[in-house]
Amino acid sequence: MSETAIPRNGKSANTRIGATQASPATATRPSPITLTSDVRTPTSDSVVVRGACPHDCPDTCATLVEVRDGHAVGFAGDPDHPFTQGWLCAKVRPYLDRVYSPDRLQYPLRRAGAKGSGEWARISWDEAIAEIAHRWQAIIAEHGAAAILPYSFSGTLGLLQGSVAGVRLWQRMGTTDLDGSLCGIAAETAVKMTLGASWAPDARDVPQSRLVIIWGHNPASTSPHFVPFLREAQRAGAHVVVIDPRRTTTARSADEHLRPRPATDGALALGLMHVLFNEGLHDEAWLTEHSIGWEALRERAQAYPPDRVEAITGIPAETIVALARRYG
Ligand code: SF4
Repeated sequence: MSETAIPRNGKSANTRIGATQASPATATRPSPITLTSDVRTPTSDSVVVRGACPHDCPDTCATLVEVRDGHAVGFAGDPDHPFTQGWLCAKVRPYLDRVYSPDRLQYPLRRAGAKGSGEWARISWDEAIAEIAHRWQAIIAEHGAAAILPYSFSGTLGLLQGSVAGVRLWQRMGTTDLDGSLCGIAAETAVKMTLGASWAPDARDVPQSRLVIIWGHNPASTSPHFVPFLREAQRAGAHVVVIDPRRTTTARSADEHLRPRPATDGALALGLMHVLFNEGLHDEAWLTEHSIGWEALRERAQAYPPDRVEAITGIPAETIVALARRYG
C-alpha cells in the first residue's frame, strides 16, 4: 500500500462523500462512481492510504483508507481504479467494523479446558511461536519434516502472505507439499486439461462486442465488476444472450434468455456446432492452426441436428439455428 495525498478537488474520493453505492445490476459506465462509505476529507493530521481488498477474490478491489493517529477513520473503494471503479461488495464495505470489532482475535490464546468448553488463556507471541516450533521440531526429529502437512488457503492473507511467505517457509522446512485448497486446484487442473489454459477475455474488451453469450453464469451476482462493461456493450448495441435454466438477475436484463433443461448444455453446444459446421460458418484455417481433433468433433456434432437438440433441451430448433448464425 502507498500513502497518497488525495487532492481535495477534482476526481477524488473526497468529492463523493457519503454517496450511495449503485447496485451492480444497474451500474453503468461512465457515470460518476459512488463510494461505499465516507472517506472524509483528509485533514492536516490524516493521510489516505491506497490499498487493495485482501480477500481471496480475483477482483482485488482497490481501496482508499483514511488514517488518523494510527487509526483508520474512513474506508471506501477507489473510484479511479479502471476495473473495480469504487464498488466494493457488501462483505467488505463495512470493513472497519470488522477491523475494530471487539470480537476480533488479536493475540494468541491457548486452550485452557476441554475441547469445546470455550476456555482459553492468553499467551504471548513468543510463547505461541516457541510452543509451535517445539512441537514441529519434535515431529521432524522423530518422523522427518514430510510428516508435517501444511493445509491452508488464502483467506484474507493476500498474495504476499498467502502465496509467497507461507510457501517459502514450508519449502525451507521440507514439509509435504500441498497445493493450497484441494477444491481449487482440482478445478483448475480440470479446466487446463479440458481447455488448455484458464483464459477469459479481458472485461475491458467487452464493450466492443456485437454478441455476448453468458453461459451458465450470473455475473450480476457473482462478478459485479463485469456488469458495467456489459451494460456499456448493450448501450453500444451488443446482443446479449444468457443460457441458464434459471431466471437469474443477469438473464432478466439480456436480449435473449435460453433455458435448456438442466444438464443438457452439452447437447445444446453440439447442436450449435452442427449448424456452424453444416452452414460453413466455422473458420477451418483457424481451427487447423489452433486446435486438435476438430474434424472428429464435426463428425460428433452430426448426431445433434437442431430438431433432436430441441427434444433434448426444450429450446426451439429455430432459436438454436438463429443463435448459431448470429455467432458464426
Ligand atoms: S468484490 Fe468484495 S471480496 Fe472481492 S475484491 Fe472486491 S471487496 Fe474484496
